[in-house]
Amino acid sequence: MIIVMRSGAKKQELKEVLQKIRKLGYKTHIIHGVERDVIGAVGDERGKARLQSLESLAGVEKVVPILKPFKLAGREIHPEPTVVNVGKVGIGGAGFAIIAGPCSVESREQILATAEAVKKGGAAILRGGAFKPRTSPYSFQGLEEEGLRILAEAGEKYKLPVITEIVNPMDADLVYQYADIIQVGARNVQNFALLKILGQIDKPILLKRGMMTTIEEFLMSAEYILSEGNSQVVLCERGIRTFEKATRNTLDLSAVPVIKGMSHLPVIVDPSHAVGHWQYVLPMSKAAAAVGADGLMIEVHVHPEEAFSDGLQSLKPEKFRELVREIRPFVRAAGKKL
Ligand code: PEP
Ligand code: MN
Repeated sequence: MIIVMRSGAKKQELKEVLQKIRKLGYKTHIIHGVERDVIGAVGDERGKARLQSLESLAGVEKVVPILKPFKLAGREIHPEPTVVNVGKVGIGGAGFAIIAGPCSVESREQILATAEAVKKGGAAILRGGAFKPRTSPYSFQGLEEEGLRILAEAGEKYKLPVITEIVNPMDADLVYQYADIIQVGARNVQNFALLKILGQIDKPILLKRGMMTTIEEFLMSAEYILSEGNSQVVLCERGIRTFEKATRNTLDLSAVPVIKGMSHLPVIVDPSHAVGHWQYVLPMSKAAAAVGADGLMIEVHVHPEEAFSDGLQSLKPEKFRELVREIRPFVRAAGKKL
């Protein structure tokens, strides 16, 4: 339910309303507006009638139901776009953030060289997987803690916040120590136990859409994180599985404006995993910028032909530099700054 306070309601009145809502067993999410405060009361749907009676309290203007199932991710109680801060980088709002780096952290030399290259090329955040969710158990699984350590070292050296994927909920403490933003991959988008744990930490989360996830299911996954108290969630469209085989997945670019209409959360696009081939990464990046994405995640490797994973879709540093140059007019056309 949404509890709309009167404009000019006293602080004490707000406090009393909040206490009443919590006593009824609901979690409260306050949005301080210019005119008035609005409280989102989220919890067991069965207590709706008791929340409705709050309308009789001083300071309350009206109590209205939240119609969408994604209550905190939706725009009903949070119409303004959210900006998620990763170090000094803001994702959402007027900015356009580029995340770049290799699929996997492979060695200290590799990640340091890539970090230097993507920094020069215009990336704001360095990516690198240390726990890799591979289709085959015989494929490279990642350097694990050593990978996290050298990723963080590269990030510090080149002043880039770092993002890395968490696969196992048991690694939450470990990944938390090294990452500035934690990635949930497509395969874990509905790993609700993992999402609940990430909802309880105070670091931003990048949630990737699953290859079989509808937009509503995707927003419900974000809701798991938000409902546990972590409001710093960035959504990432990375392609969905269709009948088409010419590309690795089908990049669902319409998801960007559709999600933005439904949710206040920032939305970025990962064209690399969507298309699966480096040649298509540039055109789809331009398209993503044009439809209003808040940023991109691009796989870059200093020697793609030697990559332990996803070499075929990884850009060489010079191609990445070219991409950042060439997307600028599209970013500007969408009303954003790069
Ligand atoms: C990745 O970003 O390295 C990755 C594995 O992507 P996805 O989860 O989208 O497949
Ligand atoms: Mn990859």
